[in-house]
Amino acid sequence: MRASAYPLVAAEAAAALVLERTPALGAERVHLRDAAGRVLASDLRAPNALPAHPSSAVDGYAVRSADAGLTLRVVGESAAGRPLDGSIQPGTAARLLTGGVVPDGADTVVMVEEVVESGETVRVPAGLQPGVNFHRPGSDVKQGELVLRAGSELGPAEIGLAAALGWPELEVHRRPRIALMSTGDELVEVGTEPRRGQITDSNRWALLAALREAGAEVELLGIAPDEPEPLRRLVETALARADVLVTSGGVSVGTHDLVKPLLESLGTVHIGRVKLKPGKPFTFATIPGLPSIPPLPGPPPAGGRERLAFGLPGFPVSSLVTFEVFVRPALRKMQGHKQLQRPTLPVRLGYDARASGDRTEYQRVTLHREGRELVAETTGSQSSSRLMSLAGAHALVRVPPGDQGFKAGTVLEALVLSLP
Ligand code: AMP
Ligand code: MG
Repeated sequence: MRASAYPLVAAEAAAALVLERTPALGAERVHLRDAAGRVLASDLRAPNALPAHPSSAVDGYAVRSADAGLTLRVVGESAAGRPLDGSIQPGTAARLLTGGVVPDGADTVVMVEEVVESGETVRVPAGLQPGVNFHRPGSDVKQGELVLRAGSELGPAEIGLAAALGWPELEVHRRPRIALMSTGDELVEVGTEPRRGQITDSNRWALLAALREAGAEVELLGIAPDEPEPLRRLVETALARADVLVTSGGVSVGTHDLVKPLLESLGTVHIGRVKLKPGKPFTFATIPGLPSIPPLPGPPPAGGRERLAFGLPGFPVSSLVTFEVFVRPALRKMQGHKQLQRPTLPVRLGYDARASGDRTEYQRVTLHREGRELVAETTGSQSSSRLMSLAGAHALVRVPPGDQGFKAGTVLEALVLSLP
């Protein structure tokens, strides 16, 4: 099929189709030190209560509330990690430090400020309330309580909770392994002086950062030339050990644009063009297992043998915008996330947005707050080669297609990359 013969698919339909073909990856166990940002693969129920024992919230004395108003004999001390050996009998008290276990027999804790200490006795005030100034067992977490659901993202609080409940390791979804490659005879490595007609490969580094932010493990494959055979060898080798292939460039309709035909020959191209600006030549394919290629050392790709392949456009902004719209949600689904999309918010245009005739346009904007609203200002020329339009942008405003455009003051939905 000639590249231009691919039907133009609406961006929303294309994003849905990508997710339909994207599997959630299997589980692995990780230590808490490596758990940040991972997604739980199974529900967690508390094996024990938190706190496990009644624990003092203050410095003071453990007493029986029935002994209110009396002078009590102090029988010892209960400090954090050093509980009293014994119990509180009528007429006695134990000195308590914050975090110390409230001894058996006591039903309340009096703050040190409220007592009169004298040698080995202490006088407690009248009218003591039972059950105050300490945390009851299970008041934070009950034994057997569902503490974290499968699909929860592990952040500091979730990891702290797991540690508090005694789990050094957690079962999380595997991270997707990505093979990342730039294509194009004009490309040179960053740091090498480009000769006339050459440009520096910037997409690989931009996409590496985007992939890592999305939780992927990335293998860098370098620059592939615009020649079918070397390109095919590189792609086949990469697919033997990756879950996902991400390329940039080589997907438009020029004679040197070889990615679509290659993906056609290896698997099925589901999407070859989308109604999205920038990003029209976005390509998505699935590739079945390749029995002819011996897998390389290391664990084999899990979650079925089918691989995903994303052929991103070459223009730097196009590759990053299509990454946001199509690739990032898929990578999140693979890792078990429930929330796949970036948040969207209504924003008021601070500029006249000219729409493109037939494609939804994702215009790059900065955001600022005016009263209760977010106002979007354009980052300037929206050329798909101009990375400056994306650098420092807070959001992508979704400008629907049409001839009239949208005046400043119109409210449109925006995909939020970061809030100001
Ligand atoms: P292509 O889709 O291969 O025709 O690429 C379109 C344009 O994107 C090229 O002419 C380059 O200007 C630019 N481009 C392609 N690949 C890269 C890359 N890896 N880094 C920076 N710019 C690129
Ligand atoms: Mg090219």
